[in-house]
Amino acid sequence: MTDGSTKRLIVVSNRLPYVLENNHDKNRWTLKPGSGGLVTALLPVLRNRGGVWIGWTGTTEEVPGITEIFHSASREAGYVLEPVSLSQEEVDLYYHGYSNETIWPLFHDLQSQCEFEPDYWHAYVKVNRRFAEALAADCHPDDFVWVHDYQLMDVAQHAREISCLVDMAFFLHIPFPPPDIFLKLPERLAVLNSLLAYDLIGFQTRRDRRNFIQCVRMLMKHARVSAQGHLHVIRHEERDVHVGNFPIGIDAAAFTTAAAGPEAEERLREINSRYGNRQIVLGVDRLDYTKGIPQRLRAFANLLERYPEVRGRINLFQVVVPSREGIPRYDELKVEIERLVGHINGLYSQLGWVPVHYFFHPLSQAELLAFYRAADIALVTPLKDGMNLVAKEFCACSIEEESVLILSQFAGAAAQLGQAALVVNPYDVEQTADAIYNAFQMTAGERRYRMKRLRRNVRTQNIFWWVDSFMRAAIDKELRDFPVMEEYIPEHHENL
Ligand code: UDP
Repeated sequence: MTDGSTKRLIVVSNRLPYVLENNHDKNRWTLKPGSGGLVTALLPVLRNRGGVWIGWTGTTEEVPGITEIFHSASREAGYVLEPVSLSQEEVDLYYHGYSNETIWPLFHDLQSQCEFEPDYWHAYVKVNRRFAEALAADCHPDDFVWVHDYQLMDVAQHAREISCLVDMAFFLHIPFPPPDIFLKLPERLAVLNSLLAYDLIGFQTRRDRRNFIQCVRMLMKHARVSAQGHLHVIRHEERDVHVGNFPIGIDAAAFTTAAAGPEAEERLREINSRYGNRQIVLGVDRLDYTKGIPQRLRAFANLLERYPEVRGRINLFQVVVPSREGIPRYDELKVEIERLVGHINGLYSQLGWVPVHYFFHPLSQAELLAFYRAADIALVTPLKDGMNLVAKEFCACSIEEESVLILSQFAGAAAQLGQAALVVNPYDVEQTADAIYNAFQMTAGERRYRMKRLRRNVRTQNIFWWVDSFMRAAIDKELRDFPVMEEYIPEHHENL
């Protein structure tokens, strides 16, 4: 790949890292910066090189002057925000449909949850082309393009068709399924061809990369695969496509600092004053059938049944963040979770002790950090997960180093954290119950030994390390090649 000395970075993702809000009182639209490790880590690169971020606005409403709203926010951001507008029908078919009802369940090995609907695919191609057109309008020959996630697998192919001939890399944040599952996808060949139009394809784990390569070997008879250092190279239609695994990290130092801050401390004191004499088991998940929440609740019930000595001495705090509301499967899952919580509490509650505390709303940042700190045991048991950032955030916030991580073997995070966590098969409720019991009884010395190792990992393999390793593989550059400027002065951009 090329040396990259004059490259700008162009990031393409389904959503822009800004949230558009309608202030109904004043009939005015405003933009609020989103947070998250990815934005933080990419900022120095985007700012120093006059980068661009292309993404959907997040609304299907008619917003007068929407492009100008984003462009004026660009001045503050220090890089150009390039909005892509989508109609309600496009969002229904491309986003809710193909992305979230076909690819999402299939790539999480939950084929029975998939809708295979030809119209979804047609809309997906059309919207990916729209993103490619936005990219082609904005990119210069020397730019480096980094496309994110399963909603946009087909951007590079269209961009190349409309003569946007730049280095393009793709990172898949979710898992990639094994061949026997991937082969069920009616558009399996089209999706592989789309991905092979990138120059670099990044996966979270070696498991995902291996699955992808096996699918390529099975379906693309002319593709040749070889190893090159820690990458694989697929020779396909006279191009070399590099493939690697790059486990995403978090801004661990920022989490540790914020968890020790005054707001989190205050919330922690409140929690400790009420629950300090009991062990807290914590689950934090978006409402999603991949997260294994019903299985986890059954495991907790199994613990209470088989180990009666923990009754009255342990609490499960289960936080569920509402997500994809209005989709029947998600609504059904919510009902199932509520039924299980009611069942467990009905069966085991005693005067002064309710076993499960259930929160169906997002927490404030300070509350979330306080919960991470207060927890003695984190129960992170997805049925399958690309990475699972909650596991890493919990470790970063375990400042006292006295807590235990119980982690599903099917979370991407298990590849890095599996040796020091208690690893379980989330489908095995007895094994998960035993793991909670082991954690409950674990000596302070063993807890500390394990948590120190976990924290060392999340500190070193953090979000900056992740960006570095991906950029090194893509364009032989690291973050330090893009130093943070003392004071950002926006360059002139023709759209501003
Ligand atoms: N999170 C949040 N508010 C909450 C609970 C969680 O913003 O009330 C965040 C959490 O900090 C984490 C993300 O949601 O960064 C969940 O990421 P994860 O990788 O665990 O799962 P995903 O939802 O991406 O599948």
